[in-house]
Amino acid sequence: YDDRDGKIWMDGALVDWRDANVHVLTHALHYASSVFEGERAYNGKIFLSREHSERLLTSGRLIDMEIPWTVDQIEAAKTQVLKANGFSDAYVRAVAFRGAGEDMGVASSRNPVRMAIAAWEWGAYYGDAKMKGAKLDISRWKRPSPETIPSAAKAAGLYMICTMSKHAAEAKGCSDAMMFDYRGYVAEATGANIFFVKDGEVHTPLADCFLNGLTRQTVIRMLKEKGVAVHERHILPQELEGFEQCWLTGTAAEVTPVGQIGDYTFEVGALTRDIAEQYERHVRS
Ligand code: PMP
Repeated sequence: YDDRDGKIWMDGALVDWRDANVHVLTHALHYASSVFEGERAYNGKIFLSREHSERLLTSGRLIDMEIPWTVDQIEAAKTQVLKANGFSDAYVRAVAFRGAGEDMGVASSRNPVRMAIAAWEWGAYYGDAKMKGAKLDISRWKRPSPETIPSAAKAAGLYMICTMSKHAAEAKGCSDAMMFDYRGYVAEATGANIFFVKDGEVHTPLADCFLNGLTRQTVIRMLKEKGVAVHERHILPQELEGFEQCWLTGTAAEVTPVGQIGDYTFEVGALTRDIAEQYERHVRS
């Protein structure tokens, strides 16, 4: 992703894509002092743009890092990036992190907090799984307790086990991995939230130790508006067998049907297809 034409916003100005670099002694690279956002623009407009900018600032505060930009400044920067690159439909990645400077140890209070925003064209996150249903592995890694790490932040440190889980899944021919939490309840995939359907009602894990995704919140609202009962609750592994349908939600994933998790299989049913189509219309409306 580093060698291409285009512009990236970095610390207040647009720079050439190839020049958007940092020093190897960047604090974030060593100690994961970094938070980020994943957003999607549809027809030139970022879906829930302000909410994403606000979440970025909140994630920063949750890891004790004050980002030196306001929501309005971030909004203007994102618009600049889309315009400079001529994108209408694109994935937008904002990242804020502790840079290189006076400190090179665990503490980093004297180093600058830096920020960058890039965008690129990115189609379906799970490729053709979007139609047939993704195949998920079951990860050996558990989502950590909120007493262990600020689990509501979209922070780099939380993704170490996600990358490991996804690599293990891909090595087995799966698109992603489903993770349990530290108590053994169903949690989410490595970069998307999870939903199940049984007897016409929807069940989704309570977001008490992982990111309560903006797509998750949007889909829950859509389901309720359709009159579908939604149960946000703790889900035990043995319940997987009884669920009929399953899908993932996320900015990148949008609504992606799941056909299999480990040995459990699900149908790409009517409600899954309805919600996927409704979400697609909604983000462009
Ligand atoms: N969980 C994780 C771990 C994620 O990385 C994402 C993607 N941001 C989500 C859930 C979904 O969040 P959203 O719908 O806000 O993109």
